[in-house]
Formats: sequence, C-alpha cells, structure tokens
Amino acid sequence: MQDLSRYGFGTRAVHGGTEPEPVTGAIMTPVFQTSTYVQPAPAAAKLHEYSRTGNPTRDALQAAIAGLEGARFGLSFASGMAAVDTALRLLDQGAHVVAGDDLYGGTYRLFTKVFARHGFEFTFVDPSDDAALRAALRPDTRMLWLETPTNPLLRIVDIARAAAAARERTGGRALVVVDNTFATPALQNPLGLGAHLVLHSTTKYINGHSDVVGGALVTDDPDLHARLAFLQNAVGGVPGPWDCFLTLRGLKTLHLRMERHCDNAEAVAAMLAAHPQVARVHYPGLPGHPNHAVAALQMKRPGGMISFELKGGVEAGRSVCTRTRLFALAESLGGVESLIEHPATMTHASVAPEVRRAAGLADGLVRISVGIEDRADLIGDLEQALAG
Ligand SMILES: *Cc1c(COP(=O)(O)O)cnc(C)c1O
Repeated sequence: MQDLSRYGFGTRAVHGGTEPEPVTGAIMTPVFQTSTYVQPAPAAAKLHEYSRTGNPTRDALQAAIAGLEGARFGLSFASGMAAVDTALRLLDQGAHVVAGDDLYGGTYRLFTKVFARHGFEFTFVDPSDDAALRAALRPDTRMLWLETPTNPLLRIVDIARAAAAARERTGGRALVVVDNTFATPALQNPLGLGAHLVLHSTTKYINGHSDVVGGALVTDDPDLHARLAFLQNAVGGVPGPWDCFLTLRGLKTLHLRMERHCDNAEAVAAMLAAHPQVARVHYPGLPGHPNHAVAALQMKRPGGMISFELKGGVEAGRSVCTRTRLFALAESLGGVESLIEHPATMTHASVAPEVRRAAGLADGLVRISVGIEDRADLIGDLEQALAG
C-alpha cells in the first residue's frame, strides 16, 4: 500500500486505505460480503480465512482511519461502545482506572454498571483540574480515560499535561486513552500529545451521514495494536462489510465537512451568546470559555458541538427542543444534518441526577450538533425557536 504519510490531511482522507481492486481495477474498495475464504490447501489461506478475523473492506477502512490520525494501526468495531469495551479488556481484573467526570453517558454506564462488577475500580475526576487529576492517579492506576471536548459541557482537557501527570504518577504504567469522537482527527491528534490509544465512535463525524453505527481504535504502538487485534478477533465486536464500505465513503469528505461544521458552529455560538433568552453558552471557540486558550493550542478549530442553558431553565430548554424545524430532535451528533437534544432526559439520562449536577450538567441544558446546512437558515431556525 502506498505510504501517504507525507501528504496533507485531505489527501490522506481521500486516498487512505483504498487501492484499485487488483482483479477489476475498481477504484473504490468493493463490499466483500463474505464470511469465509476458499483456501488452496489446508491452513494455507491467501490473505484471510474468516471474516471475524479479517475482511478486505474492513482492512481498507482500518488503514484509512489509522491514516487520518497519522498513525500506523487502526481497528474497526461494530460500534463505539464495542471499541470502548475492547479497550478496557486490555486490563486485568481489578485494575484501577481514572476517567473524566463528564464522559459520554454510554461509556460511564459501561464502566460503572458492567466493568465495576468485574472488580474494576474507577475514579472520576475533572481532568482539566491538574491537582485533582494528580490526586486521583495512583501508582497502581493502569488507565487514564479522557474525552476532549467533553460531552455535553464542551470542556477541554490539556491532553499533553494529563498524559504527563499519568506518566509521572504511575511510572509510565498507565495507558492514556483519548476518545477523540467530538474533535475528530481533522481537528485534534492525541497520539502526538502523549496518548497511547485513540478511540472514535465513527457513527459520528467520521462517517458523518447518520447511516452507520461504528467504532475504531487507533495506535502507533505495535505491541498495543497486536493485543487489541487479538481482542478484536477473540471478542468479535466487528463491523460488517457494508458498514465498513459506507464509513470509508463517508470519511473521504471529513476535512470538508469539518470546515463547514466549524464555520456554522462559530456563527451559531456567537448568536446564542448575544441572545437575551440565553443564560450560558458552552463552546470552546468563545473567548469567555474557561479552556479557550488550551482549545486554541490543542485543536485546529473549536468543532461543531455547542451546548447552552436558557434563562427559563428546564421548561424553556425542553420546549426549544420541540420548536426547531431544521434542527431535528434526536440523539447522536456529527452528521451532515443539524440535531438538537436535551441531555438530562436523553443522552445522559443514564447518569444519576446528583452525579450530573456535581459535574455541572444543568437539567435545562440543551445540546446541538451544528450540521453543514446554510448558516443563515440554521441561525434563523434557532431564533424562531427561541422566540417561542
Ligand atoms: C457516541 C459516542 C460513543 C459511543 O459510540 P456508539 O457508536 O454510539 O457506540 C462514545 N463516545 C462518544 C464521545 C460518543 O459521542
């Protein structure tokens, strides 16, 4: 396969993982819809033997996703959660994990309701508070789990600083994992900042068209990759070839879509910040954001996600969600179409109310995923919804 590492992000997005198909010359990797592969002699498989273990369409997607992060190895999964689950299985029973206190709700649920039953111990902390993070990390901590920007409060964690704290406190024995779903590799590359492993829910921006659920793990470390590839096959949370094909098609325009998501989100955040009904706007691109300076250093642009609170509290927040005409009321994010949702009763309903409040997630908070429609139409839609 051609080495694309000297090329820019857009070139890698378009060409990554895809080579002309050797038999027909098809420019796009076909959907290899097969479970098994005929072998010329016993145990003499050509390339693949069974599609849980390997599939050419998945190979292409995995190489493309690795290339987006500028890394050597990528593995694809049937969902972001299957990727989270597989990453946790790197650890031994009883391991201590430090994780951010503002995590994707499904990740928090998997940690506290499933892995906690298997003896894993979790400490949740605000990782943008360096002293609190250092206090939570112990010599026997084996994983630091970070999300940045966080969901739904869009806080920014200084990845290099957090990774250094993990290294110092554990003698380099904690794996640093960054869930890079919100930022995407177009805007932020955690492996260059000290992370060992990057996770994506490819359901979101990487596929970008709201038609596939998928996940990925990316690393530059051959040993870590070998352990994860073993688990991918042993556990079997793999995506089917059609999903790989669609995701591969989607990611070719990631760079273009992210530019438009950011252009639109910057304009929407400015409108909301100036709006008389809006009490608070959480967007790392706004100068008043508490982590604005870190965001400007760590991310190429502030991304397409915004959350905000209305002066009218819970009732006002919930009712805005029902009045938009272009922003569809739905969970998920990162697709071409704009979405709106109410975290306390939707994406974060599985987080206990007292835990939500302790993390600063107000019950009236509204989260939007700003799509790639025309900016004036999106602003007009939110203005009419806020007018009531
Ligand atoms: C959606 C999401 C996940 C889970 O991914 P699925 O594809 O829904 O399983 C994990 N982390 C973040 C930040 C997400 O947004």
